Amino acid sequence: MGQSTDNAEWDMRADVVVVGYGAAGAATAITAHDLGARVLILEKAPEGQEGGNTRVAAQGYLNTSSPEKAAAYLTALCGPFTVPETMVQVWADEMGKNNEWVESIGGDPQEHQHPPAGIEYPELPGSDSVHKFHHGDVLGYAHTWNLFDWAVKERDIQILYESPGVELIQDGDSKEILGVRAEREGAPINVEATRAVVLTCGGFENNQEMIRNYLPGVPYCYTSGTPYNEGDGIRMAMTVGADLWHMNNYAGPSMALKVPEFRTTFSMLPLHFDRELPGGMIVVGPDATRFTDEKLKTAHGKVELNGQWDPLRTPCPMYLIFDHTLFSAGPLYDKESRSGWNRIVDQYDWSEDNLAELEKGWITKAEDIPSLARSLELDPANLNDSVTRWNDLCESGEDPDFGRSLMLSPIETGPFYAVELSPSMLNTQGGPRRNERGQIVRPDDSPIPRLYSSGELGSIYSYLYQGTGNIGECLAFGRISGRNAAAEPPRD
Ligand SMILES: Cc1cc2nc3c(=O)[nH]c(=O)nc-3n(C[C@H](O)[C@H](O)[C@H](O)COP(=O)(O)OP(=O)(O)OC[C@H]3O[C@@H](n4cnc5c(N)ncnc54)[C@H](O)[C@@H]3O)c2cc1C
Repeated sequence: MGQSTDNAEWDMRADVVVVGYGAAGAATAITAHDLGARVLILEKAPEGQEGGNTRVAAQGYLNTSSPEKAAAYLTALCGPFTVPETMVQVWADEMGKNNEWVESIGGDPQEHQHPPAGIEYPELPGSDSVHKFHHGDVLGYAHTWNLFDWAVKERDIQILYESPGVELIQDGDSKEILGVRAEREGAPINVEATRAVVLTCGGFENNQEMIRNYLPGVPYCYTSGTPYNEGDGIRMAMTVGADLWHMNNYAGPSMALKVPEFRTTFSMLPLHFDRELPGGMIVVGPDATRFTDEKLKTAHGKVELNGQWDPLRTPCPMYLIFDHTLFSAGPLYDKESRSGWNRIVDQYDWSEDNLAELEKGWITKAEDIPSLARSLELDPANLNDSVTRWNDLCESGEDPDFGRSLMLSPIETGPFYAVELSPSMLNTQGGPRRNERGQIVRPDDSPIPRLYSSGELGSIYSYLYQGTGNIGECLAFGRISGRNAAAEPPRD
């Protein structure tokens, strides 16, 4: 149970307290503010690192053109992992208003130009009703986020940085949410919400215990997004009685480099399905054998097998094994990406010749394959067999083992190299279950009074995911929760 009213002494007050400042927090705050509410945002990150996954995303958001078709598409995406029809309908109705809203705050919606239009499952019913947009002429580089940030700061909305919400303050009798206990400069503060609290503090991408407990098939997983989303909203909502949903669904995994010096993952160019590089490479698991088409284009981490979509298998630890031709062909990291925390916020400058990263130990080097295996504590005979088998397949021009058709080049020019790969994700979808009014509900469907949510913290996506659906949903449910939170009668 959250802290009760009896001992809460308030340090600050607003009508609506929003916990987390990404797209969901921004849309909620703007909506509630424009309806006349005094809004305060609590943000965990220091100023300059706010914005969450939204800031470092590819910057697309979904807009739908027909509520009926959009509902059919989302229903098909959920497949056997059904979501109540009322939720699907409210999503479909509200997602069609995203462009109008972006324009209303001063934005310039542009449809993604690059073909194909990025509709992930064109074969599903209603797929022609979804469209990917972003703000402004340029896709990426935080542009859409910058618009949201500008629109919030243009308004009289208070933002407290480095002030994580820690606990919800709940009335012991009525169970109403009265406010939030937060931390500011290390000291606790109690922030009263006279109308409602809206949790918009993202998923559990950086909480390894939740990852082990909830995500299928990964003993650990890292993110290419914000390092500040640690499942705090899930813990806070559970403590006051919330039900959870979609905890096993996430946008991942891919395979990426994670090093202790940096909090988030590096995307490795040789694994990109749309890049052909010179030289040979494979990925092996802990038994030093291959387990996948290394150049596979997954659907946000999911792969179809036997008519069902499951997350890509990622037997850990995994190693990218490659030759000197690939090592010397240019940076192994995708330095040109328009998204990702290490690109947009930390701005790590990977060396052009990979030598700095070799020096740091991020890349392992050996004169021959058995020595490389020994350095990695892999079975030398198995790794040698895997490389020999790969080289034979390249000569035959086919990969009957895993169906790879790109970069069919042998690993032949020494010295040889390895990069340890970890499962990496964009974001998690699970969290407290919400209803069509944006209220967080208990297992019996009853809303927890004066508690709302929006964004990826308890997102609607239960199974398959349509790219740009997350930010689209942040805007749609941000407006819904912002409206309803602002409309709560003020407590005396
Ligand atoms: C590389 C990348 C590319 C992506 N591309 C796209 C895309 O193009 N389109 C799309 O729709 N989706 C994309 N996604 C997913 C999408 O970015 C997120 O799902 C979405 O932005 C989530 O928004 P949000 O507001 O719910 O959470 P976030 O934007 O993550 O914001 C949550 C905020 O809460 C703060 N916070 C955390 N804990 C606390 C606490 N205890 N108290 C206070 N504050 C807290 C965090 O610091 C953060 O600022 C991408 C993700 C990544 C990583």
